[in-house]
Amino acid sequence: MKIYQKCIPDAYHASIFEIDYPTLKKQGINSLFFDLDNTIIGYDEMVLNHDQVQLLKKLSEDFKVLIISNTNYKRVSKALENLDLPFIYHAKKPLKCGFKRALKITGMKKEETLLIGDQLMTDVFGANRFGMRAILVRSVKRKSDRKITQFNRKIEKIMLRKIEKNMPSLYNDRLKQYVQDH
Ligand SMILES: [Mg+2]
Repeated sequence: MKIYQKCIPDAYHASIFEIDYPTLKKQGINSLFFDLDNTIIGYDEMVLNHDQVQLLKKLSEDFKVLIISNTNYKRVSKALENLDLPFIYHAKKPLKCGFKRALKITGMKKEETLLIGDQLMTDVFGANRFGMRAILVRSVKRKSDRKITQFNRKIEKIMLRKIEKNMPSLYNDRLKQYVQDH
């Protein structure tokens, strides 16, 4: 399988609030991994707001919820201070090590786990190559102060072009809106 084929999400949504979670549950998903930066909160925000906290609390009633972030302990623990959720910091997505650590914590199988994130190259590619489904969401804020993110966005552009060329219907269905939104 080509690399670009692993960069295709199951779906694209405007935010974590737009995802049809009950349908995921019916499809056999029992655990949700969320990226933090620009998926739940903007890269420049420190803590979750009331709605974000409530959503994650509600989802925790039906799913094993875990936050998997490439950022540092201080930022992740501060953002989640009002929630009792497990998290992985320095996850090194798209490498497999963080996903493995996360599954050890949840005790779930990767087949019943789905990742929700805003980046094609770390979140979607990382989850898919590990054998997990992934949903792409619109970045809370497109900008990022991280150099590595800007690098990833360049690779992402190349992948998007390959998907558009080789798999146009999947591209139109799941990625066209993502490109238009950013
Ligand atoms: Mg992110």
